[in-house]
Amino acid sequence: TVGAVALDSAGHLAAATSTGGYNNKPVGRIGDTPIPGAGTYARDGLCAVSGTGKGEFFIRYAVGHEVASRIGYLGETVEQAATKVIMEDLKPHDIGAGLVAVGADGSIAAPYNTDGMFRGWVTPEGQFFVATHGEIFTLPQ
Ligand code: ASP
Repeated sequence: TVGAVALDSAGHLAAATSTGGYNNKPVGRIGDTPIPGAGTYARDGLCAVSGTGKGEFFIRYAVGHEVASRIGYLGETVEQAATKVIMEDLKPHDIGAGLVAVGADGSIAAPYNTDGMFRGWVTPEGQFFVATHGEIFTLPQ
């Protein structure tokens, strides 16, 4: 999966996700990626979310919408909401899962319950960062 989330200078949020699904998937399987609210979701004022992991569970938990709902209804931060869904809702199912998210305030979160997850981000100032596990690397502009 390759996922992207963005907050633009007008305050709009967007999410995009691309995937090949998984090996030997059933014919006709759609997965969570193209389903708004599951593997991909964005709503102005709340957050944008793009997920990776076994899509059936992302659909079952409406992961993207769940993250947004926790922010909107419970007042959680992007980090709190995203971490709750990945580490508490999905982890017990023993599926590797992760997501990238950005909030309406520009805060970002990228929790994962696997050994690592490739991720990168750019700040409003134009600084680039990439990470695989815990260590974060700065890229030249
Ligand atoms: N979420 C995708 C799917 O289940 C798989 C992936 O993360 O690559 O189709």
